[in-house]
Amino acid sequence: TFLITISCSNSENTAVKKNKSTVFDQKVDSIMQLMTLQEKIGQTVMFSGSGAVTGPTVNTNFRKFIKEASVGAMLNVYSAKGTRELQKLAVEETRLGIPLLFGYDVIHGFKTIFPINLGLAASWDMANVEKGSRIAAEEASAAGIHWTFAPMVDVGRDPRWGRISEGAGEDVYLGSKMAKAYVKGFQGEDLSKTNTILACAKHFVGYGAAQAGRDYHTVNMGEGELRNVYLPPFKAAIDEGVETFMTAFNELNGVPATGSKFLYRDILRDEWNFSGFVVTDYTAINELVMHGFAKDNKDATRIAINAGIDMDMMSDANRLYLAELVKEGKVDIALIDDACRRILLSKYKLGLFDDPYKYADEQREKEVVSKPAFLEAARHSAAISSVLLKNNDKSLPLSSDKKIGLIGPLAKDKENIIGNWAAAGDRGGEAISIFEGIQEYTKDANILYVKGCEIEGDDESGFQAAINVARTSDIVVMVMGEDYDMSGEAASRTNINLPGKQTKLIESIRKAVPNKKIVLVLMNGRPLDLSAEDLLADAILETWFPGTMGGNGVADVLFGKYNPSGKLTVTFPRNIGQIPIYYNMKNTGRPIPKNNPKEDYKSNYLDVENSPLYVFGHGLSYTTFKYSNVELSSETISFSDTLIASVTITNTGDYDGHEVLQLYIHDRFASATRPVKELKGFEKVFLKKGESKTVSFEIKVEDLKFYNSEMIFGIEAGVFDIGIEGTSDFEFKKTFTLTE
Ligand code: BGC
Repeated sequence: TFLITISCSNSENTAVKKNKSTVFDQKVDSIMQLMTLQEKIGQTVMFSGSGAVTGPTVNTNFRKFIKEASVGAMLNVYSAKGTRELQKLAVEETRLGIPLLFGYDVIHGFKTIFPINLGLAASWDMANVEKGSRIAAEEASAAGIHWTFAPMVDVGRDPRWGRISEGAGEDVYLGSKMAKAYVKGFQGEDLSKTNTILACAKHFVGYGAAQAGRDYHTVNMGEGELRNVYLPPFKAAIDEGVETFMTAFNELNGVPATGSKFLYRDILRDEWNFSGFVVTDYTAINELVMHGFAKDNKDATRIAINAGIDMDMMSDANRLYLAELVKEGKVDIALIDDACRRILLSKYKLGLFDDPYKYADEQREKEVVSKPAFLEAARHSAAISSVLLKNNDKSLPLSSDKKIGLIGPLAKDKENIIGNWAAAGDRGGEAISIFEGIQEYTKDANILYVKGCEIEGDDESGFQAAINVARTSDIVVMVMGEDYDMSGEAASRTNINLPGKQTKLIESIRKAVPNKKIVLVLMNGRPLDLSAEDLLADAILETWFPGTMGGNGVADVLFGKYNPSGKLTVTFPRNIGQIPIYYNMKNTGRPIPKNNPKEDYKSNYLDVENSPLYVFGHGLSYTTFKYSNVELSSETISFSDTLIASVTITNTGDYDGHEVLQLYIHDRFASATRPVKELKGFEKVFLKKGESKTVSFEIKVEDLKFYNSEMIFGIEAGVFDIGIEGTSDFEFKKTFTLTE
């Protein structure tokens, strides 16, 4: 039997939040009584203030429209001065003086840039993620920003897709925890404070599952996969009180997301009782035409509002067509009232009706931005997000009395290091390079630097100089990777190797100094195919794009001041043909041999083994950890019980350090097949060398629920495997039985 619970388990939390907003409801009612249809429609319109943004639909008449009360929100205006100037137009030159809402992409920091989101996830440190988004909100709010278009909570399982860099990786459970941490950090406890901003869960939904990893591409998926994998991080954001949602560009099973009643009416509102507002992605209403889902922009406008879209980002569709559609009887005026009401409610919660200028504070902007404490937090984040993929013969940490041959296009870089979507971050300016980070640990005479080659292009003329440096140094450190804009939006790749001649440079150096240690330090926005580099380098440190303080944080790891503790949240394939490849795959009716490609009639390839190069959850430390004595509070639990699983972990190596303990389960058989492994808990602990700790996890039966083939959410009696390790690559040894 299936234990059923209705999935719209809207927690008490939401109920409380709703009650709290009843005062605001009354205020919204009273202002809405004064509003004309045109003014209500105006609230549902957002324009970009960035003249530099190009595209056929960019309308730079926004000042005029603001004065006509035809605009409710602006994006891409991100200074106290700029936002104040436009706010003044709305407040002083319109009949009702309703303040504008200013939104911006504050994705991994505002001015102080943290590691890219995929890197932040690799820290498995939720308190740190929350703190980072708190800092981002502090900085952004002082520049007049009320609302960030973050977090992106799309599950990403295809490294070809450039936006995998903006999410938490491939896992549902970790992705949901990350969603909550971001929302909590941005929105804080009290939205009426001037240092808290609205968060936005995006892109609803399925954007990460674009066919062949090509951005904006078609998504087809069964409802089981949608509900079990892609929806939960969005639901987690709602449980944390996220105020807004953004639509996705892609179609889902034949219906473009921005026109999908199923998504915004049936799931978001009816099932989940979402009380905030939905904004489209950039020009997504008009894109319904190109998708082949609407006759023209006007038709698209009708479809979008009916689907449950509240705010139009940059299509200039609502402003142009909504009133006409109402007149023609094609759009019910109640839909516009509802959209307007939701948007005004957020403005009230922020306190904008009390003081529309409270965020735009030039004095605070100067004081708050890039504070030493923020920079320190960014440095720490860069250190804890770095993942040590490989470390043969203890090549790392580096010692400061050795001569380092520092080679590679990213060694002195200050432009790429802050990654894509760097908000108000200073590209090419204030970031600390790896070179500068290393300077803090060793005297200049010990750093022999040469660039060697560019990130892209065919030029090998720098190879000889690089080889010379390698010959005269004690250890070679190569800093390589992608350009920052090789990941992010519209940055899909069909080849996920190191670009240009970088691998060839490593090869040449390996040949010239066969016995010298080579440490590869990587910056990239996606899993790369590192099968060649894995054979060439003695150590590999994945630093993603580590942000403003990246050079310092990474040097802290390289020299052992911080013992690396990051773990991958996304699988690194051996070969692009393995994609999609992720740890929580399903079984087949045939065995899936790990590394025997020659067996007949098994589920494998002829030319490459099944296992990835680096698995989900992988990440080394300078010390070693031993897991022992996994114990369960009971071998059998009933539907109403909670299981306690504990493990003893011992630091058996030579350094103090952090370890991320990962708890996985496997539901052996069910009425709908379940993944071979599922993360259901994790804990990051610190252990001094020689120290042992017992760590317990609580598994509620609630955590074992899933959607079966009839789309019922519940659990079934049966046998579960369970294990706690420092990686997803292990064999289960324990089981428990769930009975009714
Ligand atoms: C992206 C969104 C982003 C928006 C506003 C779009 O192109 O898909 O993620 O928030 O632009 O900049």
